[in-house]
Amino acid sequence: MTESSVPAALLQILQPRLQQMVSMLRAFVLAESPSLEKSPADRCCAIVAEEWHKRGARVERLAQKHRGDHLRITWQAQKSRPAGQLLVLGHYDTVYAIGTLAKMPFRISGGKAYGPGTFDMKAGIVQALFALDALQQTQAAVRKRVVFLWTSDEEIGSESSRKLIETEARRSDAVFVLEPSLGPRGLLKTARKGVGEAEIIVHGRASHAGLAPEQGVNAVHELARQIARLEQWNDLRRGISVNADVIEGGTRVNVVAERARAVIDLRALRLSDMRQIEKRLRALRPIKRGARLEIRGGFNRAPMERKVSAALFARAKLLATQMGVTIGECVAGGGSDGNLTAALGIPTLDGLGAVGDGAHSGHEHVVVKTMPERAALLAALLADG
Ligand SMILES: [Zn+2]
Repeated sequence: MTESSVPAALLQILQPRLQQMVSMLRAFVLAESPSLEKSPADRCCAIVAEEWHKRGARVERLAQKHRGDHLRITWQAQKSRPAGQLLVLGHYDTVYAIGTLAKMPFRISGGKAYGPGTFDMKAGIVQALFALDALQQTQAAVRKRVVFLWTSDEEIGSESSRKLIETEARRSDAVFVLEPSLGPRGLLKTARKGVGEAEIIVHGRASHAGLAPEQGVNAVHELARQIARLEQWNDLRRGISVNADVIEGGTRVNVVAERARAVIDLRALRLSDMRQIEKRLRALRPIKRGARLEIRGGFNRAPMERKVSAALFARAKLLATQMGVTIGECVAGGGSDGNLTAALGIPTLDGLGAVGDGAHSGHEHVVVKTMPERAALLAALLADG
């Protein structure tokens, strides 16, 4: 087999397996796995683990106290010492509470598979499994050890998995993230905004609004002025957005507000902008005399800058062409665990998962006919690494 025919051969093996891919997706989706409910999440974890086990990979279930267990799966092609490591990254948790299936059942309609977590991102895990099948079947010369990491808390900020992800990423030459792609053309994500959440709490002084207004320090007024300040930081063309999306404060209409609070969504496309916003946040000072500010939080995931993805994307594009498939790229406004690995400077390519739409919504779905080619693309990247 010539080098350039490997991707085409992988695709050829995977095309006839579409139905099997769909039934595995069904099995994964029927095992509801909300991030916040450990026992159901663990059941899903066990079902996923079993599939990898069947394929002869080394499966380690990393026990978690409050979240579903994480899965680390290691596979290498030959007995010889592998020349490096590739990391395939994803999560099996979903944003849907137990019982969602009752009103949003798994179903196939018009070539689309609907159901909670189909697109984000159980189809991605299915594609990775079949990618491994195809690699085993073609006996493609995969030179590197491949570690698949399926975590249980991506949708709630990856608190329990972050260290594990970063440790595996540091050992890897490249990271492939099986988060959903974007749009009907299945664009890969070669840049992602950094994401954060900050809180501004204003402490003022309560007083009777009629009898002694001069003795009060109005926390709501102070907060309003601070928010007007923050609004100036927005620069959508640079990829910076700062939004006060939740506010609360005060007690009664005739009491000068003693306390007010805002929760701010932060996004930035560049690392330098992220740092700048954090600096500005810490530098906020009260405008009204007597008011006091308390600032909490900040960025949780740093931006994934395009330079970290560029070379991998070029390779993916070439491999896709060899399969007769065209792929494109995009910038994602939301973060993923790809942000964590990219922040370490490890080449990261995201959005390699399913093609579909409606993540986190009632019409979440996957376009089923694209599953084999997506699996083939991942397999080709692993064989090429
Ligand atoms: Zn996801």
